Amino acid sequence: MINRLYITAFVVVSLLGAGFVQAEADSISFSPKDLYQGEPLMIQINTSTNSVRSIKFGGVPVRIFKYKNKPTGLVGIELNKATGVYSVTAELSDGRVISSNIEVKQKKVKTAPYTIPKKLGGDTIQSQQSLIATLADENNSFKHIKTSNKTFWFSDFTPPLKKIKINDEFGYHRQLANIIMAHKGVDYSASTGTKVMSTNDGIVRVVGEYRNYGKTVIVDHGLGVLSFYLHLLEARVKEGQFVFKGDTIGYSGESGYADAPHLHFSIRIYGVSVDPVKFLELFK
Ligand SMILES: [Zn+2]
Repeated sequence: MINRLYITAFVVVSLLGAGFVQAEADSISFSPKDLYQGEPLMIQINTSTNSVRSIKFGGVPVRIFKYKNKPTGLVGIELNKATGVYSVTAELSDGRVISSNIEVKQKKVKTAPYTIPKKLGGDTIQSQQSLIATLADENNSFKHIKTSNKTFWFSDFTPPLKKIKINDEFGYHRQLANIIMAHKGVDYSASTGTKVMSTNDGIVRVVGEYRNYGKTVIVDHGLGVLSFYLHLLEARVKEGQFVFKGDTIGYSGESGYADAPHLHFSIRIYGVSVDPVKFLELFK
């Protein structure tokens, strides 16, 4: 009798113990917890199985990689993504599906007047039209940049300049006479000739010169993550070259659509531009 009681008690305690561990082990965590339009979202799966079959955001599959030893996915939330609650699910390797929700909140967008520099025709309707047409062309040419199906990086992403001072933030609306343009990167203050560094390991996919983007370097970090460095004075890398985090990729300038020296830095996740400042914060 005593033995049987002991066994019963042991089984109950063990089951409770197992239940407790499982509940704590299998969960979905988000960074940032407060998510706004135009921001990147990191989804991490905390699971005792240590691997997952799939992660979905709003029903759409997300590519999976290991970060800090956890199955992880990155999602770029478009600036005009519908606000509201989205479901996130993960299918664990044992077939169980866990889920959670995250709300995409409305970004408060500021609008500020903007001009076209004299070198691009000044503030005339004509130069506005050529700006719109050529920007569309440039953006289209960036839609099909190759991206590796694995991550090239293993540690945090770091700022592209030694000294960071933000001139123009991501996402605000630039009001020209007849059009509004969303600023899809961050402008860092940088005098001409300041060293520009790769934000992480990756392969240089584009070294080019464009009417609006100016001298441009684009680095592929894998799984759809591309970093853009615009308005450079000079590029110091070649297409196809592997770069490590902190390597000099060029020097800042004011080439293209820029009326003063600065570095425009953009991050895209599978074609979606996200706030680079928030992106860097994900890995801190
Ligand atoms: Zn800019």
